[in-house]
Amino acid sequence: MFDNSEPTKTSLSELGEFGLIDHLTKNFSPKHSSTIKAIGDDAAVLDFKDKQTLVSTDMLVEGVHFDLAYMPLKHLGYKSVMVNASDIYAMNGKATHITVSIAPSNRFPVEALEELYAGIQLAADLYNIDVIGGDTTSSTSGLFISISVFGEAKKEDVVYRSGAQANDLLVVTGDLGAAYMGLQVLEREKQVFKANPNAQPDLDQYTYLIERQLKPEARKDIPPLLKELGVKPTSMIDISDGLSSEVIHLCKNSKTGVNLYEEKVPLDPAVISVCEEFELDSTMIALSGGEDYELLFTISQSDFDKIKGNPNLTIIGHMTEESAGMHLITRANQAIPLVARGWNSMKSEE
Ligand code: ADP
Ligand code: MG
Repeated sequence: MFDNSEPTKTSLSELGEFGLIDHLTKNFSPKHSSTIKAIGDDAAVLDFKDKQTLVSTDMLVEGVHFDLAYMPLKHLGYKSVMVNASDIYAMNGKATHITVSIAPSNRFPVEALEELYAGIQLAADLYNIDVIGGDTTSSTSGLFISISVFGEAKKEDVVYRSGAQANDLLVVTGDLGAAYMGLQVLEREKQVFKANPNAQPDLDQYTYLIERQLKPEARKDIPPLLKELGVKPTSMIDISDGLSSEVIHLCKNSKTGVNLYEEKVPLDPAVISVCEEFELDSTMIALSGGEDYELLFTISQSDFDKIKGNPNLTIIGHMTEESAGMHLITRANQAIPLVARGWNSMKSEE
């Protein structure tokens, strides 16, 4: 748990802005030949040669996107890179560079930012990403992290949200709902801890869920897997807000409808059992609980044989004509209209 009361901590003012930047970034060295100039000038210089450049930005705000009561700073650094890289993979591209901007309040000692950067560096190393710059400023309350990610893809490989057609198959990677249920477990433990700070939580049975919440992995493996299988999705998006909201994005952008089959939605057994414990409907959690960072895409029916039986990929439905509407087909074979209830809206309804 984050606590700056220890006397050995170094205040940010001791290093100053430039000292802090040097201190935090001294371990970053470029891995990509596309990095012409990284940290240290007024701008970084990249050269993607004949590739198209993919760019995306995400901002994380303390108290809105993370709670340092249960989110270790190293995990936060790791997760902020994942959230960004995921958007590049969702374009069927390769994430290659990030810039990292931070605004900590003076409650954060240098050691806290070192932890944050250790997580950023770990993610950058494992995902083969160069950290090429950023900005450092201060905030009057809380921590802000803004990351921009750059990536590359051949023009003919880029997949947009808008290419799905009626009869295309709807496919999802991995399993859904675990990150949201991990958050529920952590929130519950936080309340228990507040009531009794000596309580020793036994979280073993929730390891998978908590990991999915605190240390998600973006699907770097999927664009090369699709290439190897000889499949180019007709549309793709990453699942940050919950399956139903992302399915609706694909439909609206592609001007199609959808039939999504409840019984096909992939759930880990840990999600099913924790949903029973919390008396929540696991389908609802998979549809509306966010932060899975899986990929959702459509493929032509003629590609069915190429993905059939792949353990990473589950067919959960098919696209329809726009006029047929967007429906969830329940286990009882009832068609109910699909509604977007992202995890933020779920939270505010509690
Ligand atoms: P400028 O004043 O031109 O904005 P800065 O002094 O802010 O330049 O930054 C100096 C260099 O350090 C730049 O290359 C910038 O991208 C990089 N940088 C600044 N802050 C960070 C950070 N938090 N993480 C990584 N790189 C950073
Ligand atoms: Mg600057």
